[in-house]
Amino acid sequence: MSSRSYTGRHYAGRHRVQQRRARLPRALSSGFVLPTAAAGALVVTAAGATMAESAPQSFDLTGRQTAMVRTQEAADEQAASDIATRRQDANIEAAAFQGRAEEKARAARAARREARARAAAEAEAERLAKKWVRPVDVWNVTSGFGYRWGRLHAGIDLAAATGTPLHAMSKGTVLSAGYTSGFGYKVEILYWDGSTSWYGHMSRIDVVAGQEVLPGDQVGLVGNTGHSFGPHLHLQMQSAPEDGTPIDPVPWLQDHGLW
Ligand SMILES: [Zn+2]
Repeated sequence: MSSRSYTGRHYAGRHRVQQRRARLPRALSSGFVLPTAAAGALVVTAAGATMAESAPQSFDLTGRQTAMVRTQEAADEQAASDIATRRQDANIEAAAFQGRAEEKARAARAARREARARAAAEAEAERLAKKWVRPVDVWNVTSGFGYRWGRLHAGIDLAAATGTPLHAMSKGTVLSAGYTSGFGYKVEILYWDGSTSWYGHMSRIDVVAGQEVLPGDQVGLVGNTGHSFGPHLHLQMQSAPEDGTPIDPVPWLQDHGLW
């Protein structure tokens, strides 16, 4: 304040400018400006009175304008802030949505991979289950299918040592397993393609009726039980389990890649 008073007294150019600017506010205002702090302070220094009268007036006007401007600015800032917040929220939501979408896509890809792997494993298991294997690893055919001494020999005889493992030829179900007078210990298996095999003269049975078997499963051992003259497997193939009509096992074995 003292510096402004000082300048006012000694710099004529500046003082004149201040006086000229002061005239308009003086006419417009008188009493109601005086109580302001700025006006009161300036009244004390007589030389600065012209400044005093102009300063509060312009201060007061710009103050209201400033307040309005500030209010407007604040509103604008608030609006801008709101927009920024909404935009940020939208971005976060969009990012979250994208994240969820990517997560879903990843999960879908993983599920497809898993399904493919499962299908492949099932196909492989099915392929393995439907393969065909020999009932005994090594055999020696001692008697063929056909009439022998006026009677039908309904299967083929495969000589093997007593105790040689006997295997299920493919995936199937054990229809019967037990002792019969002619065949001795006998196992009957219905395979997945409808073929039915009878194994006769076994020394031991390792399965029970109703049991599911897979290719190569051991069902018992070669023997010499029932109407038999020496250890061998009597292998009989039936056209169907119900009608019991025997078919020549040799073409059947050839068809199944086992001969
Ligand atoms: Zn036989």
